[in-house]
Amino acid sequence: MSTPRKLFVTTALPYANAGFHIGHIMEYIQADIWVRFQRMQGNEVHFVCADDAHGAPIMIAADKAGLTPQEFVARIAAGRKQPLDGFHIAFDNWHSTDGAENHELSKEIYRRLRDDAKLITTKTIEQFFDPVKNMFLADRYIKGECPKCGAKDQYGDSCEVCGAVYAPTELKNPYSALSGATPVMKSSEHYFFKLSDPKCVSFLREWAMADNRLQPEVSNKAKEWLEGDSGLGDWDISRDAPYFGIEIPDAPGKYFYVWLDAPIGYLASLKNYFAKTGRDYDAFMADASTEQYHFIGKDITYFHTLFWPAMLHFSGMKVPNNVYVHGFITVSGEKMSKSRGTGISPLRYLEVGMNPEWLRYYIAAKLSAKVEDVDFNPEDFMLRVNSDLVGKYVNIASRASGFIVKKFAGKVATEWAVTGDAFLDTLRGAAPEIRALYDQREFGKALRMTMELADHVNAYVDANKPWELAKDSAKEALLQEVCSRLLEAFRILTIYLKPVLPALAAQVEAQLNLKPLQWADIVTPLAHGHHINPYAHLMTRIEPTMLDALFEPAPAASEAPAAEAAVGIEELAPEIKIDDFSKIDLRIAKIVNCEHVDGSDKLLRLTLDVGEGRTRNVFSGIKSAYKPEDLIGKLTVMVANLAPRKMKFGISEGMVLAASAADEKADPGLYVLNPWPGAKPGMRVR
Ligand SMILES: [Zn+2]
Repeated sequence: MSTPRKLFVTTALPYANAGFHIGHIMEYIQADIWVRFQRMQGNEVHFVCADDAHGAPIMIAADKAGLTPQEFVARIAAGRKQPLDGFHIAFDNWHSTDGAENHELSKEIYRRLRDDAKLITTKTIEQFFDPVKNMFLADRYIKGECPKCGAKDQYGDSCEVCGAVYAPTELKNPYSALSGATPVMKSSEHYFFKLSDPKCVSFLREWAMADNRLQPEVSNKAKEWLEGDSGLGDWDISRDAPYFGIEIPDAPGKYFYVWLDAPIGYLASLKNYFAKTGRDYDAFMADASTEQYHFIGKDITYFHTLFWPAMLHFSGMKVPNNVYVHGFITVSGEKMSKSRGTGISPLRYLEVGMNPEWLRYYIAAKLSAKVEDVDFNPEDFMLRVNSDLVGKYVNIASRASGFIVKKFAGKVATEWAVTGDAFLDTLRGAAPEIRALYDQREFGKALRMTMELADHVNAYVDANKPWELAKDSAKEALLQEVCSRLLEAFRILTIYLKPVLPALAAQVEAQLNLKPLQWADIVTPLAHGHHINPYAHLMTRIEPTMLDALFEPAPAASEAPAAEAAVGIEELAPEIKIDDFSKIDLRIAKIVNCEHVDGSDKLLRLTLDVGEGRTRNVFSGIKSAYKPEDLIGKLTVMVANLAPRKMKFGISEGMVLAASAADEKADPGLYVLNPWPGAKPGMRVR
């Protein structure tokens, strides 16, 4: 055995303004499988996470809910344990970026960047200020008329109608999205991390371009950022009071921007956990052999491959060994909303009584080391789990252990050669390859190999027919040998599946009367005369009715902690009469074509059929959320009587409807409306 590795592993910190969505659970399952696998190798692993508690969105949401930010965040934190336990996600610690350790560590890192590395600078910038709320306004809290096309209610950074990009100061008739007040310009001193400093750029090149460090897709992206024409800009790391965050040392009224202290929360959670368990944090982090890994989604790659390693390196801290990036989860091929009530709700999944290990297995079977989206397809989910786990794996135990218990008083007979047994050696021989696949996060391939081995075992069952042997009293010894060999095969398969199916493996260990199985136990077969316990049912099949229940709208009360119902949504527009509404002619439209627009990074060009015997050309600012091929052939809803509008790229003859969250940090997505099956192009929506 090689020396055990020392691993520090994290998942991204969820923003503490809502419960978990299925995307969080997917990431945690991925990391949890890897962690459990490493522990089975005898490695020392510390696996932590925390709530990302700071920032303006939480401050504003708490204010709306009539709570302090601390109270607001505590309510969200109280809802974390149930889904984590429910899906067998075994973090060693769950902390908060508002914890004392994070305040200390963030200030310490900042002081070192300022005093030792000389990488902090200040600049005075002019920014909009809300005179009613008495606060500076981030771009997303300023709205007004587009300076190019005049569209109303556009955000401070870009126009969703014409795709123009501009500074918030260029908006016409700007207003605060928080109070409605007209903002005033005010100057303020901001603190910057000098990412453009040549020593930063050269360090990041070395770190991000190191061979075999980042995934190829991630490394290419980092290369673009590092070597692009604009280069790296300095990073604005301060926000003015009022702000829920950590005050910057020697700068009263200035706070760290939430993205500065959020990743430091990884270290803070580890430090908190080490203190609670009597371990030495400083010694662990100073040990050159300690390896540090972060599992993250592709949307936060920039922060984790540029800011984070640079902050750590220039403050003299350990730099991550790697950042493992995954794609998003889609449901039946549709990009799902990150907000609740759509897609699959993790709590709903547990509430309808579905086995969490079905989901763990299905997600693992679809995961690879690439930055790929994972699709949850309900039919495929049911078929795969029922066929692999129940049909191929669990059945082996149910077929073999009954005879051992009834006919042989629960004793296995290993009067076969325990080495050099061709049937079992095939199973044992796969261990190095399956081990390497798990280590490289190629879970799908590891499970495919394991299921091929299960096929091999089932072929042995069919060739030896224990139920036939049981009818012939002269073949008792052979029956005991065949069933014992099957139980040994089942034991080996269980080791291969244990990182993915920890609860099922624990049941198997109890039935086979074994200590918790480790990877090294593959070569230690069941002893002659070993006594097993009676078989009890290990796993049921997925029934279609469960899937129906999963996708039914759930009662709101079970979905959200009380804090959530009242916060986080945009305020309602003033009341209107039905006559006002009937002026808007909404129609079902078929997207017959969709393409990129040269020169626009916001817009897609849609060709829509509204049943008029001609098609319409519509530009829509949804490029960030959809690929053209995602939309072609789909139905949507459009405003069909909007006056045609001349835009930079042509005339737009209407507008398609899309939903977006008020709080873009929680959910930057755009979600185009899609009618239920049966709607036809041209039908009016009323
Ligand atoms: Zn515009």
